[in-house]
Amino acid sequence: MGGIRRLVRRFVFLALLLVVGFTVYNVFFYKPKVVGLEQLEKLPKVKEVTLTVTPRRYVDLVEVKAYQGPKEVVLFRGGLPPHTNQITFKVEPEKLGLENGPAKVLVEVRRFYVLREGFEVQSFVDTEPPRVRIIYAPYTVLQGGSGGIRVKTSEEVELFVEVGGHRFRSYKVSDDNTYIAFFGVPVGVSTKEVIKVVAVDEAGNKTVIPLGTGIKKNRFRRVTIDLTGRENLVRTKIYSLLGGDLEKLDFVTAFKEVNEKLRRRDEERIREIGKRSRPQRLWKGKFIQMRGSKVLSYFGERRKYIYKGKVISRSWHLGYDLASVKNSKVPAANSGVVVFAGDLGIYGNTVIIDHGFGIMSLYAHLADFRVKEGDYVKKGQIIGVTDMTGLAFGDHLHFAILINGYEVTPLEWWDARWIRTRIEPVFSD
Ligand SMILES: [Zn+2]
Repeated sequence: MGGIRRLVRRFVFLALLLVVGFTVYNVFFYKPKVVGLEQLEKLPKVKEVTLTVTPRRYVDLVEVKAYQGPKEVVLFRGGLPPHTNQITFKVEPEKLGLENGPAKVLVEVRRFYVLREGFEVQSFVDTEPPRVRIIYAPYTVLQGGSGGIRVKTSEEVELFVEVGGHRFRSYKVSDDNTYIAFFGVPVGVSTKEVIKVVAVDEAGNKTVIPLGTGIKKNRFRRVTIDLTGRENLVRTKIYSLLGGDLEKLDFVTAFKEVNEKLRRRDEERIREIGKRSRPQRLWKGKFIQMRGSKVLSYFGERRKYIYKGKVISRSWHLGYDLASVKNSKVPAANSGVVVFAGDLGIYGNTVIIDHGFGIMSLYAHLADFRVKEGDYVKKGQIIGVTDMTGLAFGDHLHFAILINGYEVTPLEWWDARWIRTRIEPVFSD
């Protein structure tokens, strides 16, 4: 009898040891962590918060509470949904009776119904959307044209101009929250679009106001280019742009590939470079045109390519083609810093000069470069000579003005009066 009792006792003891060991193991090795707590640091008018509890094992309750003075409010209370370790909840401080100012948020994760793990976040409630006052904005902008604004806000914000879904960033120019932004109306944006100013404060509160600047219709030329009979010239260009293994493509497919796919790729690269503008004004006065040059084609031309009587491709021409004698010297249109000097696909050897605050000028189809990335250039300084590198069928300069990487018509920037009346007010208080 005594032997059996001892055996049972030993068994019970072992079982207890196992349970204790298992519990201790779980308590220490499955300590949950909460990922995404930084979302609770700033609480705007409305915020959707997603927290990840990892590992989810043994977690039976998650509780998120906010404390402000004597006030305690529950932001979320519940278990983890099945098969996920994420909880998502919406916080609306005003509805919960929280006031603007500091608050403490406590995230508590409970396991085994009793064990609690707490995570504290120092939070700040700000439900006040930024106020935006427009100091200067033009009455109208041209389709394919440019504009600039000067605004003052009630607090530090991230501010941009939105034109037909395209964003143009702003730059803070003084400590009293004055911002300036230049924007363009990319070709293809309808005159019916409403240009908006969007301001987002640190907490995430957003203010959107219509700028009140109308878009004026621009009559872009339509140009038809017949490739029939020019196969050899076109062929040498497109196959070298496409690279070796694509030589099996037939003429039409190869042309489309270059004129559409490569064009899109190169436009994206230009857009990327366009984001690297300096927050300072590097230019003065009107932009200059290459001396003695003749306009071969205009900004905004809607080009239609025909081959053997059929339309095979279309594209927008987003600059001015300027021709003079072969290998003409190309001057910098205004002072700035070279942000790109290299091969840019269909644009061939290209130089891009940053003039600051989002404004850049682009020079394409050059023979080579007289400048390199990082060089400061003065207005009129020779940066290269014309040629027909890239997708060009004759010696000329393709000249473009970019705002935030979007092409706009250079015509306005060549006009001293337009700059004086439309751009200078952006810079003055
Ligand atoms: Zn061109």
